[in-house]
Amino acid sequence: MTDVRLTLATEPAYPDRPNEDFIGATSNAVVLLDGAGTPAGLQSGCSHGVAWFSHTLGSTLVAGITQNAGPLTEILASGIKETAAQHDTCDLDHPGTPSAIVVMLRRTGDTLDWLILADSVLVLDIIGAEPMVICDERESIVGKRYRGPMNEAIGGTPQHSDALSVYISAMRGHRNIDGGFWVAATNPHAAEQALTGSAPVDQIRTAAMLSDGASRLVDRFHLATWRQCLDLLEHDGPDVLIRRVRAAERSDLDGSRWKRGKIFDDATAAYWTFA
Ligand SMILES: [Zn+2]
Repeated sequence: MTDVRLTLATEPAYPDRPNEDFIGATSNAVVLLDGAGTPAGLQSGCSHGVAWFSHTLGSTLVAGITQNAGPLTEILASGIKETAAQHDTCDLDHPGTPSAIVVMLRRTGDTLDWLILADSVLVLDIIGAEPMVICDERESIVGKRYRGPMNEAIGGTPQHSDALSVYISAMRGHRNIDGGFWVAATNPHAAEQALTGSAPVDQIRTAAMLSDGASRLVDRFHLATWRQCLDLLEHDGPDVLIRRVRAAERSDLDGSRWKRGKIFDDATAAYWTFA
């Protein structure tokens, strides 16, 4: 049996609100989800909420990855189907039904398999090469069309909240359709749209999985490179990475330096060492 060296940390955006991220691990797999929030005033057709959805789907995927040695897309499709069945009387066709970004990473013998659906980030530290950054960009590409008014509003103001709601409503029209972007919600076919890949584990030193609330230190705030991010995870751990994100968020409470929909965001980071 191989030793497993895995560290992880997760923190909600605000201490009094549920964490819509999910992180779960077995001795040979990690599953990370980032639930897509429903701002106040928008309907979702679901009585359970986003945190329920991401945690239910996440724990279903952890069970699935333990029981099923098949492709990760197959495990994700089954997980989406099983979670949909637990919604009871909720309106599963509602455009605002809870959804989540999914990252799955599994070691089987000498092989590492991954799956990414939507814009969380997987960084692989390949031995003798630059870090390999895997992210599904479709949501952010579609989002660029609608971000303008939100970027112009001052963070923390009612105008900014209104602009965020308008943005999310517009994005719902592009969710889980061809030409738009794909997330895990109630349609199991979304799993086929995930980015997947494999590599021999002896070529990979470490892997970092980051929800977009954690990866923003690099890809939105530009306060570190991916290499520096891996070094920070290696030497200080995922909790220190999240603390660095929080310090940056607090230093820019109106979002004037770094335009963003969420001034604070749920943040999750996991770091897995192989070599
Ligand atoms: Zn529901």
